[in-house]
Amino acid sequence: MKVTSDHAPQVSTVAKPSTDWRSHLRAAHIRVTSQRLAVLSILESHPHSSAGEIIASVNAGDRENLTTQGAYVILQQLEQYGLVRRVSLPDSSSVRWETRVADNHHHVQCVVCGRVEDVDCVVGHAPCLTPSDTHDMEIFEAQVVFRGLCKSCKARIGSGEIRKDDLPYLLQEELSDIAT
Ligand SMILES: [Zn+2]
Ligand SMILES: [Zn+2]
Repeated sequence: MKVTSDHAPQVSTVAKPSTDWRSHLRAAHIRVTSQRLAVLSILESHPHSSAGEIIASVNAGDRENLTTQGAYVILQQLEQYGLVRRVSLPDSSSVRWETRVADNHHHVQCVVCGRVEDVDCVVGHAPCLTPSDTHDMEIFEAQVVFRGLCKSCKARIGSGEIRKDDLPYLLQEELSDIAT
């Protein structure tokens, strides 16, 4: 069987956002467009989505036709104005995005299914950690990624539904202690 570390694009309908994104866009002096609003709403209700997931969700309604290039332009603009943040994780093949930008939170990710959850900063502010050697750099942020195995993947390995032998070798090594 094929095990990928990313979910197939999940199509989710645009839920009514609790944040007034129109005001946020206006405050950032970005023109309010239905596509920008749709991207922000999707990310608010489905944090850590990839561009592919965002596109699938935005286009699930028949009113929008968001292209891949269009999505990247929008995401980069929103990032530039501090409305979204990109998250690069070792067990995700694509960059993920989120609207939770105002804190120095971290992430925990299942190495098998790729599920991502937020973890609050232990210290409460950036940088969360002090490096043993800064190499003459002023440190402003530390990003921590906790890599783990989620309950359901552990159960699926336990029941043989996911064969450990089918996982990448390095992953088998990492999991050898926990999933037996
Ligand atoms: Zn999992
Ligand atoms: Zn996050």
